[in-house]
Amino acid sequence: APILLWFRRDLRLADHPMLAEAVETGAPLIPVFVHDEVVEGQGAAPRFRLGLSVESLARDLEGIGSKLILRRGRALDSLRALVVETGARAVWWSRAYDPEARARDAEAMEGLDAEGIETRDFTGHLLFEPESVETKTGGYYKVYTPYMKAVRSRDPGDPLPMPARLPAPESWPDSERLDDWRMGRDMRHGADVVARYLTVGEAAARARLGRFVAERIEDYHVARDRPDIEGTSGLSENLTYGEISIRTCYRVALGAREAGAGGAETFLKELLWREFAYHLLHHTPRLITRNWRAEWDRFPWSEDGDSQEATAWKRGRTGMRFVDAAMRELYATGRMHNRARMITGSYLTKHLMTHWKIGHDWFADCLADWDPANNALGWQWIAGSGPDAAPYFRVYNPESQLDKFDPDGAYQRAWIAEGQADPPRTACDFLDAAPRRWRLSADMPYPDPIVGAAEGRDRALAAYKGRDS
Ligand code: FAD
Repeated sequence: APILLWFRRDLRLADHPMLAEAVETGAPLIPVFVHDEVVEGQGAAPRFRLGLSVESLARDLEGIGSKLILRRGRALDSLRALVVETGARAVWWSRAYDPEARARDAEAMEGLDAEGIETRDFTGHLLFEPESVETKTGGYYKVYTPYMKAVRSRDPGDPLPMPARLPAPESWPDSERLDDWRMGRDMRHGADVVARYLTVGEAAARARLGRFVAERIEDYHVARDRPDIEGTSGLSENLTYGEISIRTCYRVALGAREAGAGGAETFLKELLWREFAYHLLHHTPRLITRNWRAEWDRFPWSEDGDSQEATAWKRGRTGMRFVDAAMRELYATGRMHNRARMITGSYLTKHLMTHWKIGHDWFADCLADWDPANNALGWQWIAGSGPDAAPYFRVYNPESQLDKFDPDGAYQRAWIAEGQADPPRTACDFLDAAPRRWRLSADMPYPDPIVGAAEGRDRALAAYKGRDS
């Protein structure tokens, strides 16, 4: 009897523990992707990007004699129907860690188990399973550095090879058509623009890793902070959908470190930030939904996502060039440089005194590399409400940060069209991608800051001092 292989955030063939073990059984395999309640709940850009990834996996599966069956509906119902149609004896998947996916998986497991269908979940999304890393007293880590020290000497094992062929069933069940799902349906104007900036699929992800190690890892530790140059790997959009395994990236970086590449150590540590985010999310799912430290519940943050200030922030019209360039980069490309994520996050939560949840949710709608763990950890870190966080009183100055990290002004020129006689393609792309009702154009004046660097800092610090009184 066949085994159903339920693909979710593991959209690759190489270093795929579930797939490798499934091939070993010799049973016919039926790969399936379900447009389920979790996919339904995703933001516009992540769902659009996911659709491209599913399309790529479907092609890759055909290349090894298989087929990706597409179904839409509640996960348990869709899987149950497929089991009946195919006579499958088992449903396997790769483990997920965020609360929504966990709830979905628990329901699927319970429902299928009750009918005598074997269910199994596999590793593959992380280097180390969250519960396999414990403090000396048997607890979980709340701070990155000790976590990193606890895992850095561990061996995650070697990546598994890509299967040459998947055993096919005698007949295939019906599949829906990906086009009918209109995965980019909420992107409005942006889909075509954003698509130009994406690098989709397993082969492209591998090539990207190879290029990064050949050309950029050497200087990564210095170049990674500069939003005006391509100093990082860009792998987040691939890692989040599992188009490449974290273990493959980690192994390759270990090799580069052994070969003496200057930035390899820093790169390895960044990969472990992702690992830490998942460790923390697994142990404290509230990382996504609430202030991790409850004392922040009393802080006078604005929770109005449509306030004038929050709106200016989302549209890249705060009058702070670093913030605006970054918010436009996000909207046009589905990506944002890490330093820029920190600056925009700091400006929103400190200068604009707006709750990090509003920024978190906007990122979750716009980021093609949206990752439930990394996004939540990033926001709680920058807001100061997380377990291991920048203290709230450390307020980034968006003006001096721009002088430091965009010394030639290339980043701001790339994204801010106003005031430029002949704005570059990137800045025009943003204007093309922005909804018409935002009424933006290259020849409107660039705004004055809605909240100035010094004024915002003073206001935030006064609120911080007064928070307990
Ligand atoms: P590289 O510098 O090449 O790093 C390689 C990989 O390491 C990344 O792909 C990522 O998987 C991991 N990594 C690097 N930095 C971090 C970090 N600070 N935290 C966790 N993992 C890290 N990352 C996401 O993948 N998705 C998100 O939704 C996301 N939201 C963020 C929100 C905020 C407010 C902040 C401050 C950070 C967020 N990050 C997020 C982390 C980081 O900004 C991105 O991972 C990084 O910019 C991706 O670019 P890259 O792949 O070129 O990174």
